[in-house]
Parts: sequence; C-alpha cells; structure tokens
Amino acid sequence: MSSLSSVFFLGAILLAHLSHCLASPAVTCQSLSSTLPGKVFYPGSDAYNSSINSYTYVNDRLLPACIVGPRSTGDVVSSVKILGKYPSTHFAIRGGGHSSNTNFSNTAGGVTIDMRAIKAVTINEGRDTVSVGAGALWRDVYAKTDPRNISVLGGRIATVGVGGLTSGGGISYFSPSRGWVCDGVANFEIALSSGKLVNANVDSNPDLFAALKGGQNNFGIITRFDLKTFVIKPFWGGTISYNNSTDDAILAAFTKHKTPKNYDQEMSIVQNMAYDSSTGAFNGITAVYYTTGQANPKQLKFYTDIKPQLSNTMRLSKPGDFAQELEDFGVPDEYTLAAVTSFRFSPTVIAETHAKWKAWVLKIGKIANLTAVVNLQSLPPPPRSPRTPNSFGFSPNSHPEKDLVPFTLSINYKDASATGALTKEIRRFIKEIDRPESFKYMNYAGWFQDPIKSFGAVQVQKLRSVSRKYDSTQMFQKQVVGGFKLW
Ligand SMILES: Cc1cc2nc3c(=O)[nH]c(=O)nc-3n(C[C@H](O)[C@H](O)[C@H](O)COP(=O)(O)OP(=O)(O)OC[C@H]3O[C@@H](n4cnc5c(N)ncnc54)[C@H](O)[C@@H]3O)c2cc1C
Repeated sequence: MSSLSSVFFLGAILLAHLSHCLASPAVTCQSLSSTLPGKVFYPGSDAYNSSINSYTYVNDRLLPACIVGPRSTGDVVSSVKILGKYPSTHFAIRGGGHSSNTNFSNTAGGVTIDMRAIKAVTINEGRDTVSVGAGALWRDVYAKTDPRNISVLGGRIATVGVGGLTSGGGISYFSPSRGWVCDGVANFEIALSSGKLVNANVDSNPDLFAALKGGQNNFGIITRFDLKTFVIKPFWGGTISYNNSTDDAILAAFTKHKTPKNYDQEMSIVQNMAYDSSTGAFNGITAVYYTTGQANPKQLKFYTDIKPQLSNTMRLSKPGDFAQELEDFGVPDEYTLAAVTSFRFSPTVIAETHAKWKAWVLKIGKIANLTAVVNLQSLPPPPRSPRTPNSFGFSPNSHPEKDLVPFTLSINYKDASATGALTKEIRRFIKEIDRPESFKYMNYAGWFQDPIKSFGAVQVQKLRSVSRKYDSTQMFQKQVVGGFKLW
C-alpha cells in the first residue's frame, strides 16, 4: 500500500470511529436492530408501550429512543458489544422496574435494556441452588420454590425484580437469621463491557463476586443469579393494620423488638406508619413474620395483642403468598420520592424521629394530595465468614442487625407539578434527621443521596479498583448514567 493510500485508509478508520462516537441514539438503535431483529422496539409499538407502562412508578416511565428486549444471554452480550461502539449513547438496565428513582432503570432518549424476557427459574437438583434469569420477578421464583418446600433469600413483594433487589442488597423474611439477599447468591453470571460473559463466585473472580453484592449496575449486566436454597415449612406471618390511637403502642412494641437483648433471629418486621393527606388519617401497618413454622407464636404476642386492629391477616403460609399479599396492598400508579437513613438504636431517637416525621407530613400534605410512609425495620447481619464479603463494609463480627435501625421515607402523589417542591422537602427533611456517616441502604435511597459513600472509604476504593479491572472502558460509569455511581 502506498503511503498516500495508507493515510486514506487510516483516515477512513478514524472517521468511522469518530462517527460511531458521535452517532445519535437512533443510529445505535439501528445497529442493535440489525443484529437483534425483532428484539428492538420503537415508540408507538405495542411492545414499547407495554414496557414503559409496566414501570411501577409514573416517574420511571421515560421515553427511550428504543428498548432492547434480549431473550437470551447471547442477546445481552451482543447488545453490550454494540453499545460499546457508540459511547455517546446512554443506556439503562431494567429488571423488575421498581426503582423509585427516575433514570435508574430507564433513560429518556437513550437505549433501555429490558431484561424481563430472561426469567427462567431452574431448580438445580442436588446442588441446593436455583438458577434465576436476571429479568425474573420474585413471584416467578416463589412459584417454583414454594411447592417444593424450599426457599431462597428474596423479596417480600411479588412483582419486585430479582435483578435490582439482589444486586442492591435485599432484605428478606429470612434476613434476620440468614443475612442480605445478595449473601444468598452462590454465583452471578454477568456480561462485561469487554464483551465477555463471566461467572463471579467464591472461586472465580471473587473480587467481582464481593463487589456485585451491593454494587448494583456498576460492573456489567447481570444475566443470571444462582441462589442458595434451604428447606422451609409454612410460617406465621401477615399484616396487621391499626388507626393512630395505637401509635404509641406500636412504637413501644418496635422498640421492645429492637432492644438488642431481645434480638430474635426468627422474627422479621416492617413497621410502616402511613399518612393520607386526603383524609388526614394516620395508620400503622405492620408486616411481621416468624419463620420457625409455629402457629401464633408467643414471641409475636406483643405485636399481635395490640388493639384496636383494623385488619389482621396473620396465618401460616409461604413466601409466594405473603409476597402477593403485600402486592395486593397496592403498588401505586403514582409519582414517588424516597430517602433513607439509619440510626443507632435508641428508644428516644425512634420516638423523636417519628414525632418529627408526623409534623413534617402534615406540612407537605399542603403541597399536594399525597400518601407518606415511614418504615422502620432491621438491617440484616453481615456475612460471618471473611471468605464471602459483600460491599457494605460491616466487619464479620459487627452487629448492625441489633445496633442500627434503618428509617425509610416515601411519598406518593399524582400531581407531577408538585415534584420540585416535594423533592426539596424530602431532601431537607432527610438532612435534618440524618447523620452524615450513617449507613444508607441503596435500594431505599433517594437519587440525591450517596449510599456507596456510606459503605466507607475502604469499600469505595475496593469497588473502584474492581471497576477499573472489569470495566476498563468505564462503560458502566459513563454510559449507564442511572443508579448510584462509584465516582
Ligand atoms: C413496593 C416495593 C417493595 C419493595 N420491597 C422490598 C423488600 O422487601 N426488600 C428489599 O430489600 N427491597 C424492597 N424494595 C426495594 C427494591 O429492592 C428496589 O426498588 C430494587 O432496586 C428493585 O429492583 P427491580 O429490579 O424491580 O428494579 P429496577 O428499577 O429494574 O432496577 C433497579 C436498579 O437495579 C439495576 N439492575 C436491575 N437489574 C439489573 C441487572 N440484571 N444487572 C445490573 N443492574 C441491574 C438497575 O439498572 C437499577 O439501577 C421494594 C420496593 C418497592 C417499590
């Protein structure tokens, strides 16, 4: 080749590269369509509309240039390879679509990878694991495990996704005794920005294995979770609702349950206090479970005896039925905002923070018609073996399950124009009750918070070095704009 023609040749390569770099999302979508025919959906099509409308919260229903609906792991790998050629196209990864944070699992004008068709659930006989496609919902998992009297660490609402809940941590019915949902993962299969599909487990890529437990969408697209199974029998649980005359009794019961000497690893509670500005009513709703299999256990009496009760569904049942019950409570077709903090257990702090919350919701109820909920529960214990760490930074011999109380706020409302004022309010209020160093559970955090920083500086450095190693182009920091990032 003459020197002149090699200059032209190199120039043509550079030009092609530059045009890829600057290509519009429409060009990226075309490229995806030609590699994945029939699996890329455009505005106006039924598949596109149905994907958008299936996000739980209205604020997540953004309009991407196209939606990719991979049906196999190979389709995910191909999508990542193509997206890597178009670095200016933002993309989002969507599991169950339950994030309360706008932009986390959808992206306006970019490309959204909707994983929901990858939802096979396969019991691995004799291996004590179940393999779950990353687009599955918890109801898909329980439909397979419940009939066999086995279970996994999983979500407590039927249509929450396995993808987001597990990669962000996950709190389950069994968490007080068995830990975070992510600690129940035996193996992650993940598509990396290099175009490689790898497994991450205790023997293979153990640094990535640890990072994925709480690292969410920072390292790649998880395509499969192999979850550890264990034997269960029907256990006692359900919901009890109360009017506000019981507020003090409920808080006293929660305080009793949380007093470290009373820690009971069979008992799990989500204590919700709710306010409805349209009626002015405050209600308590307790979701409580006792996992031994004993009917009406005396250990729950201090909760189940609180009267008057508006409803009570306590019974022996299994995760699939309990998760459907919470689903039936209504997952609202509304806008939402959320924020979280945690504080060191103290009866005074619980009472004072609850009182502050009550005053605050009366104030924000004047901005728009809304329902506001605060929930109190327990963090799971950390993994006790140093061989299987997660990202959260608690040492194996620490006891956040006893010492800390996560305090989660949410607001649901219908009037989009109230978003600005309500966002300002929730940011101000969480700042008022927060302590900067407090642990913030990623799956309950607001987009304006920094849960990864709350894992501690050492953890942040570890996560960053795993990111440099497994995502050398930094695709999941720069191109995946939604989610809590490492830098
Ligand atoms: C009604 C309700 C009930 C809930 N109950 C519980 C509960 O019992 N326990 C609990 O711990 N949490 C609970 N949560 C919080 C829940 O864990 C988070 O909202 C979680 O992120 C939802 O996961 P998803 O897959 O449905 O969400 P999505 O919105 O699809 O995803 C959330 C995040 O995860 C990322 N992600 C999803 N899939 C993948 C993947 N395959 N690879 C890489 N990244 C991925 C997304 O990019 C996004 O950033 C609940 C939330 C709601 C709204």
